[in-house]
Order: sequence, then C-alpha cells, then structure tokens
Amino acid sequence: MTRAALVLAPGREKSVRRRHPWIFEGAVARLEGEPGAGETVLVRSDAGEPLALAAYSPRSQIRARIWTFDPREAVDRAFFAARIGAALRLREALPAARHTNALRLVYAESDGLPGLVVDRYADVLVAQFLSAGAERWRAEILDALEQASGCAAIYERSDAEVRALEGLAPRAGFVRGSREARRCPIVEYGLQFRVDVAEGQKTGFFLDQRENRQRIRALAAGREVLDAFCYTGGFALAALAGGARRVLAVDSSAAALEVARENLAANALDAARIAFERADVFAFLRQLRDRGARFDLVILDPPKFAPTAAQAKAAARAYKDINLLALKLLAPGGLLATFSCSGAIAPPLFQSIVAGAARDAGVQAKILERFGAGADHPVALEFPEGEYLKGLLLVRAA
Ligand code: SAH
Repeated sequence: MTRAALVLAPGREKSVRRRHPWIFEGAVARLEGEPGAGETVLVRSDAGEPLALAAYSPRSQIRARIWTFDPREAVDRAFFAARIGAALRLREALPAARHTNALRLVYAESDGLPGLVVDRYADVLVAQFLSAGAERWRAEILDALEQASGCAAIYERSDAEVRALEGLAPRAGFVRGSREARRCPIVEYGLQFRVDVAEGQKTGFFLDQRENRQRIRALAAGREVLDAFCYTGGFALAALAGGARRVLAVDSSAAALEVARENLAANALDAARIAFERADVFAFLRQLRDRGARFDLVILDPPKFAPTAAQAKAAARAYKDINLLALKLLAPGGLLATFSCSGAIAPPLFQSIVAGAARDAGVQAKILERFGAGADHPVALEFPEGEYLKGLLLVRAA
C-alpha cells in the first residue's frame, strides 16, 4: 500500500524547510489517497520533493502536524519511544529536577511531539492528547511513557477545548494504574503541594511558574503581600516561606482555595500570617483601593485572557485594568510581579500595556526583572509559538 500524500501549494514548502511543524489548510494543494484522522502522510512540495512525515488532521485548520523532517524515518512504536526518551532525559538533566518531583516531561511541538503534553506529579503522570496524530498513537505513547518514566499510574486529561477543534471527544480518567487523583502530593523547593489531577485546572498545577514562585520567595521577606489569582496558593505559600509579614491570597474558585488551605496545612508555615479570600479579582482590587489598602509586593497571575488572537483586544483591556489597580495599591518602593500566559499577547505588547497602566495610574515604575516559563517548558527555535508565559517585575518609585 502506498502512503497517502499531502501536496503543498507552490511556495508553501518554505515553512517546512524552516522546520516549522504546522501545515495549515491553506497551504495544501491536494491530497493523494484517503488518509484517516491521525494517519501518517508524506508531505511533498509542489515540485514533488518529499519533505516530511506528518499526522493528518482532517477537521483542524492545522491540517497536518509534522512528526519528522526526514521522510525516510519510520513513524512507529520505536519512534515514539525514542522521542519520549529524549524528552525525559532532557528533564532529568535540569537543575530543577533536584528540587522537585513535579515537572513537565513532554511539551508538545517543543519536544517533537505535536499534540502531546505530559506532566509528572510525583509518581503520577498526567497526559493530554490534543491532536488527531497524538490520539492515533495513544496506546504506543502510553506504553513508552510508562516504560521510560517508571510511573505505573497515568491519568488522561484529554479534556482541553482544543480537542474539539480536532474533532475529538473529551476523555479523562486513569488509563494506567490508579492513585488518589484528587490529591497527588508533590514537593517543590521544599514546599508541599497537593495536586488535583482529576478536577484541577489544566493538568492540576501550574508547573510553568515554578522558578518564578522561587523568585517571589526570595523577594518576600518582611513584605505585605497580595497574591491575586492565587489558585492553590503557589505564590502565596512561597511568599510566606520567604518571610512575608502577611499574605492575602485571592481567587474566584472555591475548589482551588480548598486545596490552597490544605497546602498551607501541609507545610510548617505560620497560618496566622496568611488569609485566603474568595472573590473576583477585578472587583476585589477596587475594594482594596477604596479601603486605602497598601502592599509591598503584589503578584498578578491571571488566567489566559486571550485564548486566541481574536480576543487580544479585550484581553489587553483586562490586563491594563488589573495592572493599573495593582500599581495603585503598591506602597512606594513596592514590587509588582505581573504575568500574562496569553500566547496572543507578545512580550513587547504586554510591556506596553503595563506601561499604559502605569501612566494612567500616575505611577512611576521600572522593570527590574523579566520572567518566563521554566526550562521544563523549552521553546524550539523553529517553533516560537511555544513561548506563551511572560512576566515583569516592577518596582514603584519611592
Ligand atoms: N498563580 C497560580 C496560578 C494561577 S491560574 C499558581 O502559581 O499556581 C489563574 C487563577 O485565576 C485560577 O485559579 C482561576 O480560578 C483564577 N481566576 C480566574 N478568573 C478570576 C477572577 N475574575 N477573579 C479571581 N480569580 C480568577
């Protein structure tokens, strides 16, 4: 049987030659054969040159995702075992691996595995199959993960909305072994956290902020801290462990705050110095302003306000609003750690939004540091889309 082929429109092989892994619908001239969803197709240029092997996604605007730029390579069980092995070895060599048992092990395109995300929480893996190609090789991928990681329990969280764009139904639950999925205990730089891999947001914990939580810990001593959008208390507990005078942590999710309180109890920290509040941050920041509250360190880590480029404008307004309010709450010399995880808001745009917020707040501030995701979220040079988390550490003029 000859392999199905996807023939590119004239000139559209350029991005493939630059080793970008996505082939958009509009770049396809024609299909040869009748590949099923997730089936491996040969990608050919208009001139007939074989360029790559890719997973076919009939329902997605990203019509194919490239597995390999060597058309002679086999895409099979051994291929996935090799890619997963390489991804895990990269993580094992990271300095962070000596300080935590929770890491992102596979970060999709960045690890040559489009559509696959795998996070490790102690001895539980959480896997997301987010494309037709990843779904096609699900069994082989699960075998390879179990083998390479030594983790006998794998929880599937294929319930992200992007699956619908691929025409895939959501799926969640243990697919290998089982554990107490609602409270996986992990350690991060000596702090204990419980991760709800079944009901928690994303895969249960925001691993991308690990190093930034450590940075906040180092900056928090003696400060009055506000952690806005605290989720299960990551930044709040780091600040407390770093010697914050007091911490106020706010989130709108009751489930997240319940885990946050358990996380507090799981650590030898002074519970009298921290308070959790269930509230909408937009309204709560205004209440704090009206009360004349002042903080020496504010953390703003909101959810993705711009899930797609189409929402970038509304997102920019939301980022400006919370940053303006937060800057006004800062005492002179106070610090603001402000983040955006919207890929559609590029770092320079985020910086200009924050600059506009400071201007409108009548506050002078400087950038002391820039933040990004940890090294377990590497960014392939050919795939800059892999970079989404950015942050600024600002100091308000005294
Ligand atoms: N900083 C956290 C991760 C924050 S994720 C950590 O390090 O773990 C974003 C959080 O914002 C989620 O917990 C979500 O429940 C919360 N959230 C979303 N919209 C909100 C709103 N309008 N007000 C308060 N919290 C909100």
